[in-house]
Amino acid sequence: MKITFLGTADAIPTARRNHTAILLNWENENILIDCGEGTQRQFRKAGLNPCNITRLLITHWHGDHVLGIPGLLQTLAFSGYNKTLKIYGPRGTKKYMKELTDAFIFAGKIKMEIKEIDRGKFADEKDFYLEAERMTHGCPTLAYSFVKKGKLRIDKKKLKKYKLSSGVHLQKLKQGKDIVYEGKKFLAKNLTYIVDEEKVSFVLDTSFNNSIVKFVKGSKVFVSESAFASDMEGKAKEHKHMTSVQAAKIAKEAKVGKLYLTHISQRYEKNFDKLLNEAKKIFKNSHIANDLEVVEVK
Ligand SMILES: [Zn+2]
Ligand SMILES: [Zn+2]
Repeated sequence: MKITFLGTADAIPTARRNHTAILLNWENENILIDCGEGTQRQFRKAGLNPCNITRLLITHWHGDHVLGIPGLLQTLAFSGYNKTLKIYGPRGTKKYMKELTDAFIFAGKIKMEIKEIDRGKFADEKDFYLEAERMTHGCPTLAYSFVKKGKLRIDKKKLKKYKLSSGVHLQKLKQGKDIVYEGKKFLAKNLTYIVDEEKVSFVLDTSFNNSIVKFVKGSKVFVSESAFASDMEGKAKEHKHMTSVQAAKIAKEAKVGKLYLTHISQRYEKNFDKLLNEAKKIFKNSHIANDLEVVEVK
């Protein structure tokens, strides 16, 4: 699994930071999270082909997260994109997508499937699923997780405890199905556990809220917005954003592997260390994401 940061700026891009866009690659899936202005050129700079995108996840409809969508769609159409682009976003996404593509002469068309997500699991595929949670940002806003499904293992201690001998019913358990053994019903979830599950989470614009820790729990990589330093916590709350310290506290409590701070305000252009050092004091494995940086999820 690989994460490419295509843009890491706050609302106003800078010379070194483009508007928000993050690409998650796993096997044949290339999932783009947000598509700020200029994202298609960032693909070029990163040496990546935008035609490989399979899904677009939109966190919310503030301009800095979506202004790159029309340009990207047009380029995909010109480039012979032949998949159906699956687009997910919060309430209002269908209306905004229609208005966005009606606002200019869209030369060529591509197939799109647009789904509005409330919260919870979606795109439940054989080997992975996506999950969303509602954030607090003054407009419908979602955080997203990608979860690579683990393998189901049978808890042998419990088999012994319930005196379940081997037989065809164990095959059923392995598939996650409940079983009946000697007239008694056993729930698969009580006799099995999951190994090798891998999760990465993306929390873009939001103020600090109680849902985040639970949502990102156990993520190998937790990407979090960090628009402000801790001395501006009041401002962060007022503008419905977070500080790097708040992101680090979440990372610690949620026992994530690594924290990547993004959505960095231009006021820290010459002083990113301020954000980073504060975060590191709370959660050691903190990093500031930079444009075109690639992170291998291990
Ligand atoms: Zn933003
Ligand atoms: Zn926003």
